[in-house]
Amino acid sequence: MFLSFLRQQVPKSGGEIPYYYQQSIRINDQMLAVYFFLSFVLISWASRQFFFLPILFQLLLLLKLYFQKKLSVRLSLLAYTLLVFAWCWWYVVCFGWSQGGQHILTVLILLVFFCLYEPPLTKLAYFLAIFAMRMYLFQYGTSHAALIPLDDFSCFLMQMVNTSAMFLILASCCIIYSSNLQETERQLLLRNQQLKVQAETDPLTKLINRRGFLSLMNQYVEQNPQAMYCVAIADIDFFKRINDTYGHNCGDYTLQRLAQLFLERAADKYFVSRWGGEEFCFFFPDVNIDEAGQIVMDLLFEVRRMELEYEGKRFSITLTAGVEENDYHSPLSELIDSADRKLYQGKQHGRNQIVF
Ligand code: GH3
Ligand code: MG
Ligand code: MG
Repeated sequence: MFLSFLRQQVPKSGGEIPYYYQQSIRINDQMLAVYFFLSFVLISWASRQFFFLPILFQLLLLLKLYFQKKLSVRLSLLAYTLLVFAWCWWYVVCFGWSQGGQHILTVLILLVFFCLYEPPLTKLAYFLAIFAMRMYLFQYGTSHAALIPLDDFSCFLMQMVNTSAMFLILASCCIIYSSNLQETERQLLLRNQQLKVQAETDPLTKLINRRGFLSLMNQYVEQNPQAMYCVAIADIDFFKRINDTYGHNCGDYTLQRLAQLFLERAADKYFVSRWGGEEFCFFFPDVNIDEAGQIVMDLLFEVRRMELEYEGKRFSITLTAGVEENDYHSPLSELIDSADRKLYQGKQHGRNQIVF
């Protein structure tokens, strides 16, 4: 786990800092500003004199918050770290170790690991600096008397405020990170699904393309090794002439009409794809070659009768198709090649026919 952390690549943010980094730093700043103010009230009350240093810390923080948009995450975190270090040091020196002023250091660890677009070693160095600061404060706080001794009740209140502040700030960071992480994951999954559909769909006919169809057929064959199935390839006859005579757009329109017809007739009898230019591939699960042949024959018949009209010009088309059946030992690719060879035979023998 540790090694994989060290090997982590730093993602390129492309100059844009993810929204939730800014959000968490801003919320941290706001909560810390409230904490400084509360500390000002509490410390002044407990020591019976005004301590304006917490107000100074608060003002510095508000200043940083004001310039937040202009600061990079790196600079913002550095300013935050220096402020927190100074605060903890002042707190421990003035009031001792047991009031918990140093608790707030813990929040820094979370920010460093979640907010920074830095190499793992930088984060680790940051972590060690925080750790060293805490150890130093511990050593100092436990070996020196507090400059301002307080009564037990005040100490209790200060410890309560410090602990509550740390827990509240940590919880708010965790809420932001976990909800954003979940949302990011959800969007990533959704986008992946959309990309897969895009990568496997033919944009013109909206049919599944060759890549998608091959994976669909292979999946079926893997899951049903003993199943009977057939494949067929159909190709439009003299399609080039349609393009040459009526234009490329008319050719596109023809492909779309044909795809629409194939989809309408598919029901649960077959799957159809755009295999290449003007070629369509069919897959017939649980169907023998006679049944598949009949289905293709009906389709060819319908295509012949289909009335096509583009920009006032009426025309019709015919198809030639080859059908092949699973022989239980040849791989799918061979069956497709065999269907293709039969299609070629059909072309050789005058087109507008089915060979199976
Ligand atoms: P055959 O009967 O031997 O199949 O003749 P054919 O003219 O159909 O075959 P050929 O391979 O000579 O030409 C296929 C044509 O299909 C050539 C190409 O421009 C056209 N084509 C391929 N994809 C598209 C497309 O997406 N849109 C259009 N309009 N034409 C396409
Ligand atoms: Mg053709
Ligand atoms: Mg062709």
